[in-house]
Amino acid sequence: MSATSIKTTCPYCGVGCGIVAQVSDAEQHLVEIHGDASHPANFGRLCSKGANLADTVSLENRLLYPEVDGEPCDWDTALDQVARGFKTVIEQHGPDAVAFYVSGQLLTEDYYVANKLMKGFIGSANIDTNSRLCMSSAVVGYKRAFGADAVPCSYEDLEQAELLILIGANTAWCHPIAFQRIRKAKEDNPALKIVVIDPRQTASCDIADLHLPVKPGMDGLIFNGLLSYLHFHDALDRAFIADHCEGFVEALASAIGDAADSSEVAAHCGLNQTDLLLFYRWFAET
Ligand code: SF4
Repeated sequence: MSATSIKTTCPYCGVGCGIVAQVSDAEQHLVEIHGDASHPANFGRLCSKGANLADTVSLENRLLYPEVDGEPCDWDTALDQVARGFKTVIEQHGPDAVAFYVSGQLLTEDYYVANKLMKGFIGSANIDTNSRLCMSSAVVGYKRAFGADAVPCSYEDLEQAELLILIGANTAWCHPIAFQRIRKAKEDNPALKIVVIDPRQTASCDIADLHLPVKPGMDGLIFNGLLSYLHFHDALDRAFIADHCEGFVEALASAIGDAADSSEVAAHCGLNQTDLLLFYRWFAET
């Protein structure tokens, strides 16, 4: 590679597409972005976000210093203004009248300070971040199921799967390059079945064989129902479970207690029972 050609990664989403940045003038921020053809995540492809990264490199039109009422000012003035605003509202209406919506891109230490400020100092639990809408429920699921925050499959696994289930994820919009790979895999192998479980009819449903528009908050029940179904249809891999799972007896008892009757599961989830049973059958047969 030449000195001005830098291999790096698109920073926008978790697909992690490889890019090659051709820097023709570093001072002038003149950069051209191309997909890295040798990268195993994207093999040269980029979605519109990644393809337009070069436009974000320059400092033009960025807010580099504080402004109050549209006028530039120093940091102390700006921070005093913010502190006064919080203080006035809290004095009048109490600490629960204010809230922080924090960036998911903060580091752990920054989160700690922001939480300490809101919960420990201001005295309210009103702090949330976009990360809760993004990955945190999956992270907790991975940690409880597998003991670590790590995705247990690779992109190639998605392409080789026979049944692919997208749960609460609009992959078509949020992870476009992964979606393109899935779409291509389905074109190459029409037997690949895709199930989308999402209250919304999203663009990801365009390639789905089955869409289950579950009521918000009821996805856990679908999977308790699935575990019960697999148990009652003798579709569990008992040897694998004996070798690798802890707490299975309790998990199964809990699932059966919650969701043994698929007509009730369907009713609670706001789903057509025939569709729900089709999903369970596909899963059992795969
Ligand atoms: S899918 Fe798009 S946004 Fe996500 S890493 Fe690839 S190019 Fe970037």
